[in-house]
Amino acid sequence: MTQLNSKIPSGPLAEKWTSYKASQNLVNPANKRKIDIIVVGSGLAGAAAAASLGELGFIVKCFTYHDSPRRAHSISAQGGINAAKNYPNDGDSVYRLFYDTIKGGDYRSREANVYRLAEVSNAIIDQCVAQGVPFAREYGGLLDNRSFGGALVSRTFYARGQTGQQLLLGAYGALSKEIHKGSVTMYTRRDMMDLVIVDGRARGIIVRNNVTGEIERHSAHTVILATGGYGNVFFLSTNAMHCNASAIWQVYKKGAFFGNPCFTQIHPTCIPVHGEYQSKLTLMSESLRNDGRIWVPGKKEDAEKIRKGEIKPKDIPEEDRDYYLERRYPAYGNLSPRDISSRAAKERCDAGFGVGSTGLAVYLDFADAIKRLGKGVIEARYGNLFQIYEKIVDQNPYETPMMIYPAVHYTMGGTWVDYELQSTIPGLFIGGEANFSDHGANRLGASALMQGLSDGYFVLPYTIQNYLADQFKVSRFSTDLPEFVAAEKDVRDQINRLMSIKGSKSVDTFHRELGKIMWENVGMARNKEGLEKAIKLIPELRAEFWKDVRIPGTADELNPELQKATRLADFLELGELMALDALKREESCGGHFREEYQTPEGEALRNDKDFTYVAAWEYKGPDKAPELHKEKLNFEYIEVKQRNYK
Ligand SMILES: Cc1cc2nc3c(=O)[nH]c(=O)nc-3n(C[C@H](O)[C@H](O)[C@H](O)COP(=O)(O)OP(=O)(O)OC[C@H]3O[C@@H](n4cnc5c(N)ncnc54)[C@H](O)[C@@H]3O)c2cc1C
Repeated sequence: MTQLNSKIPSGPLAEKWTSYKASQNLVNPANKRKIDIIVVGSGLAGAAAAASLGELGFIVKCFTYHDSPRRAHSISAQGGINAAKNYPNDGDSVYRLFYDTIKGGDYRSREANVYRLAEVSNAIIDQCVAQGVPFAREYGGLLDNRSFGGALVSRTFYARGQTGQQLLLGAYGALSKEIHKGSVTMYTRRDMMDLVIVDGRARGIIVRNNVTGEIERHSAHTVILATGGYGNVFFLSTNAMHCNASAIWQVYKKGAFFGNPCFTQIHPTCIPVHGEYQSKLTLMSESLRNDGRIWVPGKKEDAEKIRKGEIKPKDIPEEDRDYYLERRYPAYGNLSPRDISSRAAKERCDAGFGVGSTGLAVYLDFADAIKRLGKGVIEARYGNLFQIYEKIVDQNPYETPMMIYPAVHYTMGGTWVDYELQSTIPGLFIGGEANFSDHGANRLGASALMQGLSDGYFVLPYTIQNYLADQFKVSRFSTDLPEFVAAEKDVRDQINRLMSIKGSKSVDTFHRELGKIMWENVGMARNKEGLEKAIKLIPELRAEFWKDVRIPGTADELNPELQKATRLADFLELGELMALDALKREESCGGHFREEYQTPEGEALRNDKDFTYVAAWEYKGPDKAPELHKEKLNFEYIEVKQRNYK
């Protein structure tokens, strides 16, 4: 039976990473050329890992379903990336970033990992500046910082509202250099369909060439997945439309435990849903909360008039507005963490104070900031976001407040990994949003980019060598091994099964239905009854999908519907595990809000005695219940207490 071993190095917290690096095994430069590494994913985490490992001298094969690494979902990141540089001299430090991150995650992450993340954060900024990432600078030439939720300091580095794009271009530049050198071979438009395990170790993958439909086998000494998050299980989310869980779901079914599947982040500042046929939601970056003030009408009758279009927001006088975050959380105000801000918006809307035609929206108002700083400053800081908003909503946010509402944004859950980012399958490493990550039950803004780049540039290049140190003796693998043949056959069987259904309903019809079940029962607020309902409804929907889905075209060609169907088949299983995990966690923490467990003020009520653990789920077979393993979380350096942002 697989035992969980988080492999946290001994010694004082601040010295763990240094002492790990001092004592780990390394691969000598000549032997690195004898070792092949597969990296699936070329977003920030994958591109950073592939470029760094190529630079070190390993032979890397990097896979993506995109036509270029530049299209990874990381490109959409808007607001910024955290680091403890303390440039504004406002009291930041590695310890404070560590502390804020653990507290922000509601004490459900590992101290050692989070400390390392905070420690490495400064090197990320140096690395990216060296690559030419055009971070915003202030008048004196120093890199500028802004604030994000859950922090009392300004530690977020940014490039206007396009930080992810600029960071990805930096990583892509580093990757391209290695591709040119020949140390990295790039395989675009490939979907990873399965992991190949030989003698208990990850040794290869099966991919589908999405252009020709060909199924290919690829071998390596080790495999890294950096395939992003699974927020699209909810159908509507801020994620790019193709984001999926398939790679991490396949490895789950091959023995990699799945960590905290129910921990989902609902972001408070998204453009509200506007219709049944919408297939995507758009984020308005958290950075906007630096200058925007969030409010709803203080009187129900005003809210009703707004909803009917009888009055406009500017008709409501200052004294009749409820700046509910500033009222409830005066210390952090509009920069309260995402889970708390999202719930507060929902609470106001559920109580009848919501605005917009559906009543499911609150205002994000820049009038004060424009008055104080001038329109030019606001435009320089957030111009592209204001443009996106105006294009979608057809209202000018310089003149009237934006309308926002919480939406699914990020998944803190993912493949369980130890301190080395290795899963429970030896030789399988996971980086970026795809692993269960350092964010506990709630991720603070601007920390996903930090984690993805930390994993890719600074953690995996070290830890993977510890695993690979004796692997140069293992000669390269033939893809004719029976394990490859069997894995390819499974993939072909699955595709043939899907293509032969020839049912009556489109993939999106099923996906939208799954999304509704997930949002209503496993969404922002959860309860026992709803979760049990989801656990009943999802398998029913799954059965119907396998009987009645319609996939036009053939499997031997470019077939986006087939791609969507293979991904949805996995979401239809993952959704059930998320509901089960949420049901078992009988407490509220971070983004996991169980209505039964709340304080009299409506805040999340943790149960530290029984639930201070990472839930690591083990797949037991198609018709068997998965087994829950618990990794106990020990807090030696932080006092665990009720989160307080008041
Ligand atoms: C709108 C938006 C704004 C955001 N803004 C911020 C921000 O300001 N700051 C911040 O810190 N975070 C932000 N985030 C979160 C952050 O962008 C992501 O968490 C992060 O970029 C994920 O990076 P990644 O490398 O792990 O995955 P991704 O960038 O999603 O890359 C995944 C890669 O894996 C590949 N892939 C996936 N599945 C397969 C498969 N089966 N086969 C082959 N290839 C596969 C994809 O092609 C892609 O190359 C934002 C997120 C959203 C949605």
